[in-house]
Formats: sequence, C-alpha cells, structure tokens
Amino acid sequence: MEVQTIAVVGSGVMGQGIAYAAAVGGFQVALHDVKQEALERARQAIERDLQEGVKRGKLSQADAEAALGRIRLSDTLAEAARDADLVIEAVLELMDLKVEIFRQLDKICKPHAILATNTSTMSPTEIAAGTGRPDRCVAMHFFNPVPKMKLVEIIRGMDTSDQTVRIVRAAAGQMGKETVEVNEFPGFVPGRISALVGNEAMYMLMEGVASAEDIDKAIRLGLGYPMGPLELADLVGLDSRLRNLEYLHKTLGEKYRPCPLLIKYVKAGRLGKKSGRGIFEYGEDGKRISPTDRN
Ligand code: NAD
Repeated sequence: MEVQTIAVVGSGVMGQGIAYAAAVGGFQVALHDVKQEALERARQAIERDLQEGVKRGKLSQADAEAALGRIRLSDTLAEAARDADLVIEAVLELMDLKVEIFRQLDKICKPHAILATNTSTMSPTEIAAGTGRPDRCVAMHFFNPVPKMKLVEIIRGMDTSDQTVRIVRAAAGQMGKETVEVNEFPGFVPGRISALVGNEAMYMLMEGVASAEDIDKAIRLGLGYPMGPLELADLVGLDSRLRNLEYLHKTLGEKYRPCPLLIKYVKAGRLGKKSGRGIFEYGEDGKRISPTDRN
C-alpha cells in the first residue's frame, strides 16, 4: 500500500507541524480539530512556516503554494479521515481521549488505513487495543518544531505488523524525516531524557539556583545543547510537559515527579509560547520579547 492521503487529528502545536511536513512531502492532507479557532490558528501557522521555508531557500514560492493547496481543514472527524491511507493523531496527551479517537477512527477509516499516534510517552498497544486493527496501529513520534526537527521515532505496539512499520517509515522519509525504531516503553528515547532535564531545570528555577535566562545559557554554552531546557519547555507547552511527567511519574516512578513550580505555571494559565506567556514572554509573532521574573 502506498500512502497518498494523510489525515491529521488535532491541529495544535504538533498537528499543524505534521500537516505542514506531510503537505511539503507531497501528500494530500486533511487537518481536523474539534475547535474551529484551533484550525484557523493552524492555517495561519502553516502559512507562516511555508513563507519562512521560502525565505530560507528550502522551498520555492510555487512549492509553498502547492503545499498549501494540498491541505484542507475539517471540523468533522469522519469527513477528514474516511479517505485517508494514514491517520496521525495529535490530540492532547490523555489516554482515554486517544483510545476513544482510535475507536472512532477504526469505524470510519478504510480497512487498509494505518492509524498512528503522535503520543510523547504513552503505550501504542493500549491506544490501539480498542480497535479491530492493532496490526495497522503504531506510534509516529514527531518532534517540535516539526518543520525543523529531523527525527520521527517509530514505536511498535504489541501487534504492529512489519508492513505497517515499513509503510510509516517510508511516509516519514517522504516528509524529509529520519526514523528510529524504538521498543514500547514509557517516554521512548528523547522524550524521557528531555522530561527529566526540563523538570530538573524547573527545580533549579524554584530553588533560586539561577535565573531562567542563566539556567538556559549555562546548559546551552556549558553542555552544548542547541536550546535551553526552559525555553524548550515553553516551546513544548508547559501543560503538555506536565501531562508527560504525570504519565512518566505514574509508570516509571518517583524521579519523574513534576516540579511544583511547573504545576503552578500551568494553574496560572502560563502554558508557554502557545499562550504568549510561560517561563518567558512572547509577542504576537511568537518571538520572545522579554524574560519574566521568577515566581
Ligand atoms: P496542543 O494542546 O497544542 O493541541 C492539541 C489539539 O487537540 C488542540 O487544538 C485541541 O483542540 C485538539 N483536540 C482535543 N480533543 C480533540 C478531539 N477529540 N478531536 C480532535 N481534536 C481534538 O497539544 P500538542 O502539544 O500539539 O500535543 C499533541 C500530542 O503530541 C500529544 O500527545 C503530545 O504529547 C504529543 N507531542 C507533543 C510535543 C510538543 O512538543 N508539544 C512533541 C511531541 C509529541
């Protein structure tokens, strides 16, 4: 089976990036979200990313326009998914929600269609268990920001077939991505490390070890990380990071207990770049404007 049409479910931070990569890779894309405003924000973000690609010489203007023309937005799951060869789910990191969406997709999609989850931490076996096609379910874990990050982790569920793995690796390759195959275990590889490092940086901020800017600068210049862990947490979304840590804490134990300061930021609605304010502050254009003081 050759993938031609991809449906992306959830048009938040990751869904919009995956839709971008899929359209640039030449696939027909249906992008679905339950919230109309999330779809509208995604359309604007994709247009911005395409123009950025043109500016950086990665795409011609004609390529960017053609990619945009391959994306349609849909507020109905059935309409978005019924013709798809591959569905990539990118809704919130909540097991019950993912299980329910996979159940619905199993009924809506064509028999050959592959259902992939972009979960950061959770079990693709459990997400697929309510479907009648666990052999055609898998995790495709993209990284943020998707247009720039080269990796897709492929995680097999217990019944995922070799053919499914082959097809999703090829689809990721057509999106310009490299793949690694990882066995199912909470958090997989980069996500598990990143959650720990980010949580530790949050503890340092809470303990007053250094300012947010200096913690990030120390890690960038001292350890050679391309980005500071606090800046990365804002990019990931502090709510998403918290959900990841909660799941890792529940499944892997004490060392993943979410830092109380992270919980406080999420309670305050300071979710990071996507809400304009997290550990740092961001302007309308998504660029960082000024560092905020520690709580
Ligand atoms: P997000 O909060 O930015 O977006 C989630 C979107 O899902 C929202 O637009 C919401 O309206 C939509 N949604 C909620 N319920 C829905 C439903 N029933 N049907 C359709 N859409 C629905 O979240 P995100 O950061 O894009 O994360 C999405 C997934 O990707 C999560 O599983 C997360 O763990 C994973 N992930 C996130 C990152 C990251 O850096 N943010 C990186 C890799 C993987």
